Amino acid sequence: MPARFWEAEAGRAFVGRLETGSDLVEEIERHCAEHGIRAAQVTVVGAMRRVRYAYYRQEAKEYLELASETHHELTSFVGNISERDGRPFLHAHASFADAQGATVGGHLLRGCEVFVAEVMIRELGDVSLVRIHDEETGLALW
Ligand code: ZN
Repeated sequence: MPARFWEAEAGRAFVGRLETGSDLVEEIERHCAEHGIRAAQVTVVGAMRRVRYAYYRQEAKEYLELASETHHELTSFVGNISERDGRPFLHAHASFADAQGATVGGHLLRGCEVFVAEVMIRELGDVSLVRIHDEETGLALW
């Protein structure tokens, strides 16, 4: 299948800081739901008290879930908001560094407990990003 792109308009921008102890994914999705954000680009800088993420096993078409209970710097976070089951859905990949600077990362899951999180959300307008199941990859894609 050829690459597909849609042109979108720049919408509202939101910047904020999440509360210590909150769930990174849940708080971003809650903000988007409360403000009617259906498509957006999301970046975060911060530190986590514990992390949960996943690796997608492409042959088996299933996520291998990974976690660490130790503190980590959130060294990279790229994500987007689209619609899934009628609600804003955050898809994000992140890298986390421990006290030795060793990095792990992957597909972000619920269960990342915030120590500090500075969030920027750039809404995209005039575009519809709706996730539906894709047979070839086993994933819910635009
Ligand atoms: Zn992913």
